[in-house]
Amino acid sequence: MSRMSQIDEIKNKLDIVSYIQQYAPLKRAGRTYKACCPFHSEKTPSFVVNPDKQTWRCFGACNEGGDIFSFAQKYHHWSFAEALEELSKLAGVELRQQSPIERQKEEHKQRLRGLMSAAAEYYHNQLLNGSPVSNEVLRYAKEKRGFTDETIARYQIGYAPKGWQHLHTELTNIGYTDAELRETGLISENDAGKIYDRFRHRLVIPIRDEKGRVIAFGARALDPDDQPKYLNSPQTTLFDKSHTLFGLDMAKSTISQSGVAVIVEGYMDAIQAHQAGFLNVVAQMGTALTEHQVKLLTPKYAKKIILALDSDQAGQSATRKSIDVAREVLLSDYTGRMSVDIRVLQIPDAKDPDDLIREAPDVWAELVANAMTAVQFVINTETAHLPTGVDIRQVPVFEREELAKRILPIISATENQAIRQDNLQHLATRLYIDYVQLLKWAENLRDEAIQRKTIRVLPPAPKKSNVPEGDDPPPLDVSALTPPPMSDDEMRVPIPPSDTDGTGKSEWDWQPIVLHKPEPLTPERELEANCLRMLFQAPQMYYQINRKLRSLANFDEILLKNQFAELTDDDFLANEYRALMRLFLDGLAQQEQDLHDYLEANVVPILQKTLHQLMTEDVIDRMKRKLKNRFVADLELVMQTEDHQETEQDMLRHTMWSALRLRRFRLLQELQEYKMMLTDISDDAHLLQEVRIRIRYLAKAVGAIDKGIREATQT
Ligand SMILES: [Zn+2]
Repeated sequence: MSRMSQIDEIKNKLDIVSYIQQYAPLKRAGRTYKACCPFHSEKTPSFVVNPDKQTWRCFGACNEGGDIFSFAQKYHHWSFAEALEELSKLAGVELRQQSPIERQKEEHKQRLRGLMSAAAEYYHNQLLNGSPVSNEVLRYAKEKRGFTDETIARYQIGYAPKGWQHLHTELTNIGYTDAELRETGLISENDAGKIYDRFRHRLVIPIRDEKGRVIAFGARALDPDDQPKYLNSPQTTLFDKSHTLFGLDMAKSTISQSGVAVIVEGYMDAIQAHQAGFLNVVAQMGTALTEHQVKLLTPKYAKKIILALDSDQAGQSATRKSIDVAREVLLSDYTGRMSVDIRVLQIPDAKDPDDLIREAPDVWAELVANAMTAVQFVINTETAHLPTGVDIRQVPVFEREELAKRILPIISATENQAIRQDNLQHLATRLYIDYVQLLKWAENLRDEAIQRKTIRVLPPAPKKSNVPEGDDPPPLDVSALTPPPMSDDEMRVPIPPSDTDGTGKSEWDWQPIVLHKPEPLTPERELEANCLRMLFQAPQMYYQINRKLRSLANFDEILLKNQFAELTDDDFLANEYRALMRLFLDGLAQQEQDLHDYLEANVVPILQKTLHQLMTEDVIDRMKRKLKNRFVADLELVMQTEDHQETEQDMLRHTMWSALRLRRFRLLQELQEYKMMLTDISDDAHLLQEVRIRIRYLAKAVGAIDKGIREATQT
């Protein structure tokens, strides 16, 4: 059985209606099913499931749709690999066996997780066993820490008893070995080789991963003489504190619903916040936020991150560091702008969130709502020691300029242009520096950021036998591909007449396209493979495709946001290519590994071979062979140069052409889905109106795409 058909087999065995039924109560409406959208809040149902095509679509705020995989991924916040695993179980389709080493590793981890879970249970029971010591500790937990019974149960808070070997004895009795206990950091060994429990006479808080599995413990001293006050598990096979956000398992659904995540310093703060009903709070596990922690939150759950670190000196400098980390991580789009709103919450009177939430939860809510922007915070802290008003001129010019340059990167990372200019103006006034000068520096900085971003994703150049070694390839001429702004006339494309008789019928007719074809080598599938092949081999083109899409939107805000948004996995219909595109995007977003290393390290096993082929096969050769009989007219133009030891420009034109074709397929697919819906929703005037507007936009977009395709096939 081939790799592709395993994914198709899963889809064939599962029914999207009964699957979605579990999460949203579907009601039959004509040939389709309707429900209130499970992804946004609404009163009239605009979420439609189509049993014939096994697809879903939200006509409301989400304006998104897909198949059972995309629904499962979106609903459960799963990666493609996770969705594949879960849905294959549900469908009873066995995926390729793991290699013996992979299986061994996974089984080992599984066993360590079992150990941690047994330890959590042991500690929890020790707190509740009614002994005089336990009762005293329980009283401390309730009175001094302010934990309710419910919180103690929910977080499985526990007590590590006095003495050296309680936990060790307990866990070896149920079959865990010393080596396993040592690996989880629960026991230590002294110089004489004697084994002892790491946590003794401490209040113990289990630390869980995103899925709620215990991976470590935090432990607070109960005796004031015991040092340190807080002792955590060391780094282990299961636990890396820089990759962990405490409370995420509890907070993720609230964060996802509101789009807002609040980050506090310690787990005590987070538990206190949750207990008071602020369920969007997580705790970082060290002094400053890390790249991995930012990525646990965004883009998966949060659009806005509020840093609520302690207000002491250390907390403030951690805040500054965290802002820089977030800024670096989030410089995701090609203009270097930050798509996530970073804010800073400052607690007055040098209090910790823990204390404040207990004393005045209302004040906390107000502080969260009014948190200042990261830019405000940076300007305030960087200039706090300087004289104000015109007295700032006492500070030498070069010092003020240097300060400005330190602050500028964070200003230019702000997405909103008006806010950016506002901030620049504010900084110019504060430092008494010429605004135009500041603007110029800011622009230079942004260019550099884009440059850095582009360079970072460049893979090792593919080998070209005819290029003498040491010769640099010619630089890409982007201007050759960027069309001049279009006039309104050029944008005008046929628009479906909106019908007035309420039948939903119109003269506008679309070419039907067949989706989810099982045969592996449809032209659409081949086109998808081609586009990926080129992106994998020259990833910097991804940014150029997006720039092209933006230019085709011609400043229309709605087109920009929807039909001409960045190329994503949604542009790919075949599940395996969708998954690989997602992986590619994740690879671009991370900064730690070379893109190709990242792809190889993170690909799901059943797609390894496909990935490898896409990364190594000759782009043009394949395209020529496989596309010969299709899109002949386009192809001839694209393949102008017979000698295809092509320049990078040719390759860029190819990529652009493939990507625009893909987007065209996607838009046509949506058009067709909407058209089908028209008859089913004819009783709902509001939805009908909405769908007609969407159809008009889609038609407009297809026209613009066609123009782009023509341009990409001309030199
Ligand atoms: Zn929706």
